[in-house]
Amino acid sequence: MFKALLIDKDEAGTRASLTTLAPATLPHAEGEVDVAIAWSTLNYKDGLAITGRSPVVRKFPLVPGIDLAGTVTASRDARFAPGDAVLLNGFGVGEVHSGGLAQQARVKADWLLPIPAGLNARQAMAIGTAGYTAMLCVLALERHGLAPGSGDVLVTGAAGGVGSIAITLLARLGHRVVASTGRLAEADFLKSLGAAEVIARDGLSAPGKPLAKERWAGVVDSVGSHTLANACAGTQYGGAVAACGLAQGLDFPASVAPFILRGITLYGIDSVMAPMARRTEAWARLAQDLDLARLDALTQEIPLAGALDAAPRILAGQVRGRLVVNVNA
Ligand code: NDP
Repeated sequence: MFKALLIDKDEAGTRASLTTLAPATLPHAEGEVDVAIAWSTLNYKDGLAITGRSPVVRKFPLVPGIDLAGTVTASRDARFAPGDAVLLNGFGVGEVHSGGLAQQARVKADWLLPIPAGLNARQAMAIGTAGYTAMLCVLALERHGLAPGSGDVLVTGAAGGVGSIAITLLARLGHRVVASTGRLAEADFLKSLGAAEVIARDGLSAPGKPLAKERWAGVVDSVGSHTLANACAGTQYGGAVAACGLAQGLDFPASVAPFILRGITLYGIDSVMAPMARRTEAWARLAQDLDLARLDALTQEIPLAGALDAAPRILAGQVRGRLVVNVNA
């Protein structure tokens, strides 16, 4: 028997609870590899799943959790063997396949990556989907040509998971990072991660003009809506914006002006179905470039049951940095 969070649905809606399962009863778990999970995480999407605020979970009952890290206990695929340290992000895990907020999982070998040398399972989950997505954003900007010295790089949703890791990465890579936050009380924290300047998010989150002063060589945006539109409007000639999130909204009330008058580029970033080659590159770069002391400083640890309480808090923008879940606590 093992501990798991379980989301079920009835006429009243969805309900998440801590429960005990037998391996044979793990619902919607398919694949060739059994994993003893050591660490999982709480991402914004897990908050949506656990609270039922958005239809993230589409099969019931289901174990939530879009990330996991642990050790292979059994494998019917030649690529993995008992004892291997592995991690998983996305691929519909925690949405249509049982996920990481449990002590055990059964998953497809195609979805697993070895934990890269230099990181342990806890650090891999402190990074989690939020950090891996931040790295996908940085890689998109680098492919575009962003280099240290190109100019200021804006990170929105700065005190959240994607934002705090994006700041840490970009600063370590030598960029001048401007952090936009609704929590100015966290300015010292954001500077300790490497932000050169902290600005209030109100300046970006209200409706703006089609074109604004050219401020940003690059942008990592996890917020969407007017914030993304204003980020595009304020991007320098030929610059690029990587859009990965919707914390402010799913809408994009923008004009084509920055695209046709300043030649800016908007990159859409998806972590869930990103191809393996891109994932491997992102995780290798995380192992190489992320300052692990800063990762530790932005990480808080919670027990498995704690994910239930933390879910509404992450949606309310009240979680600072990253939450790592000790599934054995
Ligand atoms: P967090 O909740 O940790 O961070 C989101 C941050 O956005 C908050 O901390 C807050 O930052 C800011 N924010 C929240 N509400 C608002 C608002 N109404 N207006 C403006 N800013 C707001 O979430 P994550 O970092 O885990 O995820 C961020 C976003 O990225 C989510 O929308 C998530 O779904 C998306 N995402 C997408 C992925 C993909 O594959 N494309 C993968 C991972 C995440 P502050 O307090 O500093 O203002």
